[in-house]
Amino acid sequence: MTVYSLKSGKSYTAPSLFVNPQTKEDVKALWTMDSKKKLSYIDGVYVSLSDLKYLGPKLGFNITPLFNETRKTVRDKIFLVDPSVDRLLGGMDDVKQKMFATGKFDQRIQQKLKEIKLANLSTAEKSIRILDEVYPLLQVKPLMDAQIDANVDILIAPCIPIASKTRLVDRYNIAQKMLEDTRVLLDTSSLKKYKDTKDLMNVLTLSKSIITNERNFHSLFDLLLCNTPDYVGIKIDRILESDTTAQLTVFKFLREFHEYAKIKTGNKVPPMHLLNVNELGYVGYCNAVSNIVCPIGHNPSFPYMRKKGGGATATPVERNTSMKYYHPIDMDYPKFSDQNPFPCACSICEPPKKADNVPYKERPLHNRKHWLEVKDEEIRQFRVTPARLDTSLRDKFARANRTQLLAYLPINPTFVH
Ligand SMILES: [Zn+2]
Repeated sequence: MTVYSLKSGKSYTAPSLFVNPQTKEDVKALWTMDSKKKLSYIDGVYVSLSDLKYLGPKLGFNITPLFNETRKTVRDKIFLVDPSVDRLLGGMDDVKQKMFATGKFDQRIQQKLKEIKLANLSTAEKSIRILDEVYPLLQVKPLMDAQIDANVDILIAPCIPIASKTRLVDRYNIAQKMLEDTRVLLDTSSLKKYKDTKDLMNVLTLSKSIITNERNFHSLFDLLLCNTPDYVGIKIDRILESDTTAQLTVFKFLREFHEYAKIKTGNKVPPMHLLNVNELGYVGYCNAVSNIVCPIGHNPSFPYMRKKGGGATATPVERNTSMKYYHPIDMDYPKFSDQNPFPCACSICEPPKKADNVPYKERPLHNRKHWLEVKDEEIRQFRVTPARLDTSLRDKFARANRTQLLAYLPINPTFVH
């Protein structure tokens, strides 16, 4: 266990998990579980700028409570707002609309993106036009202000995604300039007063083709470190869990970054966060990752025992009371209504016992609350585990029929906790 103390006064303990609420149900589940005092080990909340407008007020990070509670509540956890520039440029249309609605982007961008979308061009040509016409219009300052207004603990430096090989050097240079501009703003502008109270984090959004090319490693390491950040993060676009080679290279990237940063920073390595992952991220804990950020699971994701043989047609055969991993490939199976009884003994599943006893309307919330409790307990176990974390992960993966994840556990793990 390692405790990382933030300039804001809050802290997180590695191995750590932050949650990424994306819907109102997610936030409701967070607060419900919080009121049951069931979220002691989840240390942070991470929200995308596109979701901030309708989730922010409900999360309550700007609210001073009427009474000071002695325990930590959701609003005492570490809060991050990701400027998510990648969502503006590559997101679905409704996500783009939400990003524009934040009012933090140059109005010409919306028009430009529309023009480019409708133009009769190949995907590569469109990507180059975005590079030439849209990127120069991106401004760092409004995106930093938005985070300050939201009262975040760690400022995330706005940065374009590096997701295409075409004119990679140009993309790299734009990304570097944005990261360095952020540092300059923190050192000199009206943001200077936050320099001692808010940490700075670089988050790079990388595509599979960029991060799995080992020749890019050192350039990306330099980019991650270019403005002497307090924390760094990696968001990877679309790598399937079955793509073993790509995943192994990602974990190698994380380990090598750690070694490289040790030398470059004189042993003051900015802790690594792995964003947008499911429990595959747990493997990251053995690959120099201090924290993972997960969306709140809302599909049926009960840790269930399978009939011999496993596979998609396996059915739960016995009620299992130990904490286990769910199977992301079979996320929609078993169906909620088939859970009679629930194959789980958490405080959410225990009282109703059967899916039939959960009213239809409450089912989305049930799943989220169950997920939060199971994850919180898993993190607790990781922190108190007497065995080495990779050994206990090996055991957990095997028990949960997730043996394919074993391949990702390195022989010589790099722990940062
Ligand atoms: Zn449960």
